[in-house]
Amino acid sequence: MRRPLIGGNWKMNTTLSDASVLATAVKNGVAELEGVEVVLFPPFVWLYPVFEIIEKGPSFLTLGAQNMHFLDEGAYTGEISPLMLKNMCQYVILGHSERRTYFNEKNELINDKVKSALHHGLSPVICLGEYKKEDKVEAKNDVFVQLKAVLKDIPKDLIKKAVLVYEPVWAIGTGKPASGVYAASMVLQMRQTLAKMYNLETASQIRILYGGSVTADNILEFTSQREIDGALVGGTSLKAKEFISICRQVAQATK
Ligand code: PEP
Repeated sequence: MRRPLIGGNWKMNTTLSDASVLATAVKNGVAELEGVEVVLFPPFVWLYPVFEIIEKGPSFLTLGAQNMHFLDEGAYTGEISPLMLKNMCQYVILGHSERRTYFNEKNELINDKVKSALHHGLSPVICLGEYKKEDKVEAKNDVFVQLKAVLKDIPKDLIKKAVLVYEPVWAIGTGKPASGVYAASMVLQMRQTLAKMYNLETASQIRILYGGSVTADNILEFTSQREIDGALVGGTSLKAKEFISICRQVAQATK
């Protein structure tokens, strides 16, 4: 069975004290939960302070980075390498649409990053999604072209560690999520594509999340769909109470 995962992508938000308060609240709020994995993705500079806070929390509460360079080290001012992350983080978000849009990241670069993350034992949380709403042809082109390109030359034994996220770009930060049924149909097709690229068994082991305007009010619309294994939460992950409620509802539903 695939264990549901709820990720909180804080993006470029929080001061050090905000981050400490938020991480402490989440740690305490999810302490008693079972059956769910919770991953916090703070900004790079707060990774260590948040690591120190959640280290004393439940083992299913872990840390991820929002991005990384694919090289181990070098003259790349401002960049962060997998070696810097690997002792603190279990996960790293790669291919987020904001990286694609504002930093011109292309599938080839994301593929290099995915390979590097896996090589270093980090689980990549790979975001894939179409730009335009209700254009089924475009949705398929974007998502499945991205999927094949970012997973190019990644062997079967490594891919199982990856987590995919179906994030329609039109739903991110807009307050207009996809419907659960539509998201599930895209996730199902992603899994079918994985089955063709690898095999059925491998495809059935990879977690695929939904992301895009998830709140405490709509989370179950997504996670009640058999195909969807959790959510990557942006804006709502900055609100401790609501984020904890999302984690609780998902944990409760696994019972
Ligand atoms: C995201 O950035 O991954 C995201 C899903 O954002 P939001 O929840 O704010 O739409």
